[in-house]
Amino acid sequence: MSKPTPEVYEQGRGMDAHNQVMRSIRAKKDRTYDPHEPTRVWLDEDNTPDGVRQSLTIILNTGGCRWARAGGCTMCGYVAESVEGGSVSHEALMDQIEVCLEHEREEADEKSPLIKIYTSGSFLDEREVGARSREAIAETFGDRERIVVESLPDFVEGERVADFTDRGLETDVAVGLETATDRVRRDCVNKYFDFADFIEASEAAGAAGAGIKAYLLMKPPFLSESEAVEDMKRSIRRCAEYAHTVSMNPTNVQRYTMVDELYFRGGYRPPWLWSVAEVLESTADADAIVVSDPVGHGSDRGPHNCGECDDRVQRAIKDFDLRQDPSVFEQVSCECEATWEAVMRREMGYNMPLAR
Ligand code: SF4
Ligand SMILES: [Zn+2]
Repeated sequence: MSKPTPEVYEQGRGMDAHNQVMRSIRAKKDRTYDPHEPTRVWLDEDNTPDGVRQSLTIILNTGGCRWARAGGCTMCGYVAESVEGGSVSHEALMDQIEVCLEHEREEADEKSPLIKIYTSGSFLDEREVGARSREAIAETFGDRERIVVESLPDFVEGERVADFTDRGLETDVAVGLETATDRVRRDCVNKYFDFADFIEASEAAGAAGAGIKAYLLMKPPFLSESEAVEDMKRSIRRCAEYAHTVSMNPTNVQRYTMVDELYFRGGYRPPWLWSVAEVLESTADADAIVVSDPVGHGSDRGPHNCGECDDRVQRAIKDFDLRQDPSVFEQVSCECEATWEAVMRREMGYNMPLAR
């Protein structure tokens, strides 16, 4: 990939030490990608404020997140999916959209009412997706019901969001807030913005007629299991004041990240699925849809329990996502809950991870 460098925009943000480490780790990655192909595309079902809908999720390849080029977040390997040269032309972006539409035509009986577009960065950053491409994409999906676009708070501006809302699309801006606690976001995740910036972005989106979907990260490095659980419970309740949907996702160990280096040296364990269940159950009365999609569940590099019960707990979590009924967790149990409870009580900053 093109060499990660801090650019003027990123200088002085985040922690210099974190950025330096992340830059040197990312520099080991040397794969490049075709700018005419999306990074990924798939069909699924999602819980929206209007009910469960078929969704088409698109990960556009836009050249990667500029924050990641400066070093970036400790758990994020997404820049590894960027393209040589760091930017993708309008024509290439539209080719990617065409590949996604083709996938939908082949795999689904009908058009998906819900479109979700992620970019491994910020869709609303005009250096990733220019105004012309943004408008053309809004036009392409103008006949759908709802669209979700991902962005860091800095780039959430009324007129960019209005490209979608003006076409009558229910629009959500998905923000990778990670946590409502500024100290955890800065010191553990190495993200540079504050909760106050998230509030400002949610107000800008709201004024343009859009809603906010907040993404939270459970258990970034340097937090014990119980600290991570408490951080999520608090964060979900604070986010629910601004976001109609909160997607809380457990950290998984991605290649070419600081989390991967810690994991490799025995200093990091992804969260237990019991922790995910505990948070969802205890915040079920929060005034937002709260969902979680544990990636790589049951594997050592993903959120996991003992190996015996992972699939069952994952199913309960997916069930909760669609129905928001905390009683789904009463139906799953396993002997390893006792180990998890001991970890919750005894794991501290200096003895992590207490159990595998
Ligand atoms: S998590 Fe988002 S902001 Fe952080 S480096 Fe990855 S893509 Fe960039
Ligand atoms: Zn178990």
